[in-house]
Amino acid sequence: MKMKRLVILSLFLPLVVSGQYKYGLTPTKHADYLSGLSNNPKNELINLEKFIPGVVLDIRYATTNNFTKEKIYNLSRAYARKPVAESLKEAQEEFKKQGLGIKIFDAYRPYAATVKFYEVYKDTTYVASPYRGSRHNRGCAIDMTIYDLKTGKDLPMPTEYDSFRKEAWPTTPVKDHVIKKNRDLIISVMEKHGFKVNSSEWWHFDFVGWQKFDVMDISFEELENR
Ligand SMILES: [Zn+2]
Repeated sequence: MKMKRLVILSLFLPLVVSGQYKYGLTPTKHADYLSGLSNNPKNELINLEKFIPGVVLDIRYATTNNFTKEKIYNLSRAYARKPVAESLKEAQEEFKKQGLGIKIFDAYRPYAATVKFYEVYKDTTYVASPYRGSRHNRGCAIDMTIYDLKTGKDLPMPTEYDSFRKEAWPTTPVKDHVIKKNRDLIISVMEKHGFKVNSSEWWHFDFVGWQKFDVMDISFEELENR
């Protein structure tokens, strides 16, 4: 009975709702974001590459080297809300004392990209639900690793970025002591500076207090041309 109802629903749903916002969530668009900034300067999306010396980008969704095998972003950019950018800057200062730098795989993500990921891979263990949006959509999540400032090489970690394996969980035991040390280091420095690691992705850090920020659907081009 339940299945039958679902089938009927899915047949009629496309007729009832159309467009990108069919999941019952209406994200903030560019014009509203801009007009709200004077009252809420904390909402500003900051270009992390410009704001934080030592931060480098490897934005996989601006290439085909990601789980969708498609280029999702037209530009390779990393933005985050002002307090998130400030906390990340402090974390970078601490990493730098150990000869390390932050490499960002993804930061603010337009809501349209979250919809696309969900439609490609319908498992919300690893991709955010479009009904709620991602913390990336709020400009409050950073996907990252750390690299050696001298050699430019990434530190060995339990898995590659965007791995759907259980080894990616921060709680999975690691035998290799160097890898364990690296994973503990990235998590401890980030958590000291106001972030919380995701329970199934060692590379994903949520800004504590992300609930205060809204889901946005603003492209990198819009942010750049304002
Ligand atoms: Zn993430």
